[in-house]
Amino acid sequence: MNVSKIQDEILDQYLNDENPRPWIVGFSGGKDSTMLLQLVWNSLKQIPTELRQRKVYVVCNNTLVENPKIIKYTEEVLHRIEKAAFDQSMPVFVERTTPKLEDSFWVNLIGKGYPAPNNAFRWCTERLKISPTTEFIKNTISEVGEAIILLGTRTDESSTRSKSIKKHTVKGERLRKHILSNAYVYAPIQEVKIGELWQYLNQVPSPWGANNKMLNALYRNANSGDCPLVIDDTTPSCGNSRFGCWVCTVVKRDKSMEALIENGEEWMEPLVELRDLLKDYRNNPEWREERRRDGSDGIGPYKIEKRALILESLLKAQKEVNEQEPDLSLINYQELVAIQVIWYRDNHFTHSVADIYNKVYGTHLTDHDFKDHLIYEKELLKEACDENPDDFKLINELLELQKSKTILVKARGLQHDLENRLEQFVKS
Ligand code: SF4
Repeated sequence: MNVSKIQDEILDQYLNDENPRPWIVGFSGGKDSTMLLQLVWNSLKQIPTELRQRKVYVVCNNTLVENPKIIKYTEEVLHRIEKAAFDQSMPVFVERTTPKLEDSFWVNLIGKGYPAPNNAFRWCTERLKISPTTEFIKNTISEVGEAIILLGTRTDESSTRSKSIKKHTVKGERLRKHILSNAYVYAPIQEVKIGELWQYLNQVPSPWGANNKMLNALYRNANSGDCPLVIDDTTPSCGNSRFGCWVCTVVKRDKSMEALIENGEEWMEPLVELRDLLKDYRNNPEWREERRRDGSDGIGPYKIEKRALILESLLKAQKEVNEQEPDLSLINYQELVAIQVIWYRDNHFTHSVADIYNKVYGTHLTDHDFKDHLIYEKELLKEACDENPDDFKLINELLELQKSKTILVKARGLQHDLENRLEQFVKS
């Protein structure tokens, strides 16, 4: 590997563009994207500040179910990058992306009862990884017309990936078309071999002052592969790269988390236990409805009592890990509210988020704490419709529809859903 040659190419690409399209560097904090960003950074350092006109966005996606050890490390690195970019007048801007609330892992699994993902039904990658980044890329393109996405993919990573890179590469050209219109992909380190990569990271100091030896130690301790920025479904399965989500049930065992525990991170044990529970009971018929969510034939979502059980196990795991890691949150408040809203919307009144929370934490929260004001109108409505329970049912359903669309930031389709429900009511 010739570092100066790669840096020269990067500089050439950076400077020789009539229309200085912004660069979007997919950054996961792992070895490949660290090397990529270091090379870009060190290339730009060679030119005077006034020539650094093109913006470089460092995009890091947090699925909200990242391996806690890794996300903590990545966050520290991102802070360093932000500070160093300012101090060194680099045109580098860190952008953090997360899934929308309605796409969150727990809202889908506990709220809607989606079974834990597996190879046949890997509903998570699009929602947790592809969509948030794609949205950022699309927004950037809509502002400036075009964008170039820099990826740390390498041909020796996997044969599938290698084939895909070759298929999309136009001979003699550095950029290849991305599936998004007006987006191009540039992969400056695709020929770098794994040994060369580690040699580079161990020898060349991080320009933002991170400790690459720590990164190396993380890989050794987790006995792990990388989880690259996932922008399309040709990216190798994040389920096979163990710097992925701690909840991942696509792989048989989470070897990286087990290795981290063996190397002294015992506080992660409740996470492995919960992941194993999700994996072991995924296909248990006693856990699943007999019909799908849309009413069609076929094994359906988790039963409400099992969703409640998973929520309880998750909160217990959170409580336990908080004894060692007090700031770690496994599920956030908005997700809890969204779960409660979905349970109401689906007419599951036997379990409440507040009761489960109180059971685990010994608190005295009420349903009020996990609802928005619309739910209270239900009580008044019930009284007003005392003599016509069907009216109550219909108005209540319409309210729930409207509310869920609001809370889940999905107003699109609301009118259609309301009309459908009214039509059904008229027919019945
Ligand atoms: S790491 Fe696993 S859980 Fe996370 S998005 Fe990928 S396949 Fe899904």
